[in-house]
Amino acid sequence: MNLHHQGVGLFKSIDDIDMQVQGSATIAAKPLPSALPETIFSGKNFAEWREYLSDLDWVPDLGVDIGSPTWFRGLVTLTALCGFAISCLPDFGPIAGHRADPLSGFRADQARSQMIAPLAYGSDTGIRMAATDAVRPLAESPERPSIELVATLGRGDSLRRVLQRAGVASDEAAQANDLISGAVSLGDIKPGTKIDVVLGRRPAKNQARPLDQLAFRARFDLNLEILREDSGLKLNRKPILVDDTPLRIKGTVGSSLYRSARAAGAPADAVQKYLQVIGSKMSVSRDIRSTDEFDIILSYRRAETGEVEVGDLIYAGLERDGKAQAQMLKWQSGGRTNWFEASGVGQSNGELARPTNGRITSNYGMRRHPILRYKRMHSGMDFGGGYGAPIYAVTDGKVVHAGRKGGFGNYVRLQHSGGLASGYGHMSRIAVSNGRRVRKGQIIGYIGSTGLSTGPHLHYELYRGGRTINPTSVKFVERAQLGGRELRNFKGELQKLQRVEPGAALTTLKNASAQAEPEREINRLNKPLKS
Ligand SMILES: [Zn+2]
Repeated sequence: MNLHHQGVGLFKSIDDIDMQVQGSATIAAKPLPSALPETIFSGKNFAEWREYLSDLDWVPDLGVDIGSPTWFRGLVTLTALCGFAISCLPDFGPIAGHRADPLSGFRADQARSQMIAPLAYGSDTGIRMAATDAVRPLAESPERPSIELVATLGRGDSLRRVLQRAGVASDEAAQANDLISGAVSLGDIKPGTKIDVVLGRRPAKNQARPLDQLAFRARFDLNLEILREDSGLKLNRKPILVDDTPLRIKGTVGSSLYRSARAAGAPADAVQKYLQVIGSKMSVSRDIRSTDEFDIILSYRRAETGEVEVGDLIYAGLERDGKAQAQMLKWQSGGRTNWFEASGVGQSNGELARPTNGRITSNYGMRRHPILRYKRMHSGMDFGGGYGAPIYAVTDGKVVHAGRKGGFGNYVRLQHSGGLASGYGHMSRIAVSNGRRVRKGQIIGYIGSTGLSTGPHLHYELYRGGRTINPTSVKFVERAQLGGRELRNFKGELQKLQRVEPGAALTTLKNASAQAEPEREINRLNKPLKS
């Protein structure tokens, strides 16, 4: 009996196994093949054996006569049957199923004509066929009646060139340019502005498409539109309602002023500027308590179309128990922007005015002169910084000397108020002329090594009453004081800002809210159709 006719690795049905078990159990009952050699099983012996085996009880009751030879034989039978049954248990590996061979050649082409290939693979489907008589070539390809495109104004770009690049003929581009420049200064149009252009049908193939329509946002508060009418191009101005209520942000300082202000919605650079301004009045780390209230006002513009422009910090305030600790307002006075206190006193900073950005290489006092080799008084301060680095006026003043002066080389002397004067030596080049007034921070020359000098550096001196003094001993304290009419204007502006409610700039604009509700499609069903 072929017990493994289904091969290894395949399940066997329970019936199969049962049959096999029965098979082996009845082996003895089956007549042995007659082809066996007669020498072992002679006729008489064979009959005796057969009788003997058929008399044997192969499956005795294993519950009785435990330990007897019959019992052991029964045990052997049981073990053999169990072993056989276990050896027929299937394993749990996967069953290999039927797999079709991949298509190739003509069959693959046939199958491909049924499918949709991805674009990434070239959308290559079907069988290529030559054009038949049914295909007729076009004399010329049809053109779109109009082209809508968006042109973008680049940095340093001109409107006229943008239009020409978009395909507008040069005379029409110039015409549109003139119309627009009549309505708005072309320099006010921000780079990156998107211009919607519609080009119409061209009369002939060798001509440019005519400009049919052009629309863009020329300014924050102005939309411009050019339309083609019978008489030619016509410009329409469409003003946008803009509200410039400043954005006021108030809140409690808490554990961190920066974080609280940021959480209240103030932009990061505005908070930094606020800390800088408040820091000029008091120490941010020591004098501000967590229960104090900060008050930040930024210039702010919003259009009815939803865009906002967040400007610079214009007011920085700090309140403690309802009383103002600091009220600083940005104010333009005498052509210069400065921060003023509510009383009209300008911001003061008592720092050493540095005439250049380089480091101090030698201080005021007695020292051995590097060239003359004897001890003498160093009557100023030396600054490094490299050849050609700019030199700034330490404070406002008037040029009283600009030119060569002995060992100083190229030398500039400025006369300041309060009997003070400053001198700058060894310059490579002088940038001011005698008699001119200079402002604090204005470039008056460049570092060099003219005169008695071992290398490029700035020799800086400060004089009081004509005699040199230690420059570090004088702190230029700038205190601008507003007065008269300017002070009244300043206080008016301050009061106006303080009347602004926090969050007033975030309410909806009137016009924007009026048209906010769009008409729903379903509501049109009940209306009579336009004929
Ligand atoms: Zn020096």
